[in-house]
Amino acid sequence: MSLDNRPVFTGGCQCGAVRFRIEGALGRASICHCRMCQKAFGAFYAPLVSVEVDRLRWTRREPRRFRSSNHVLRGFCETCGTPLTYEAPDGLALAIGAFDDPSTIAPEVQFGGEAKLAYADHLADLPMRETIEDGAEISYLADIRSLQHPDHDTDPKDPT
Ligand SMILES: [Zn+2]
Ligand SMILES: [Zn+2]
Repeated sequence: MSLDNRPVFTGGCQCGAVRFRIEGALGRASICHCRMCQKAFGAFYAPLVSVEVDRLRWTRREPRRFRSSNHVLRGFCETCGTPLTYEAPDGLALAIGAFDDPSTIAPEVQFGGEAKLAYADHLADLPMRETIEDGAEISYLADIRSLQHPDHDTDPKDPT
């Protein structure tokens, strides 16, 4: 929480070059199935939460932007490629997975239904495994070390 008790949300890209901080409540969380969002996220759909622009600060580098249409910019980390923003004339949204704690940002609505991949409705039915279960078959998992930026702000001089 910030000094005046407004909630604070932080997050950033996988390498930590781009970090963001929001003071105050987030807007509506959604997933978008549209073809533009599939491409921009390299995924079945885009998980996004709207944010008031004046509550958002980029605390390290800003994202680089790709203009995906005459009205929309897509922000991403130019070092590691993490998708970060959807920026339209009527507002900005951040990628939910880029937050340090995405667990509380549950989507409430779906958009872009015309492009929805049919199997997107059945993902929850797929068999589930945990990473550790594959340890015996995938030998490199035994001594794997993450180089991903941790899920909290760090001293820029000491990124671990
Ligand atoms: Zn990055
Ligand atoms: Zn979309």
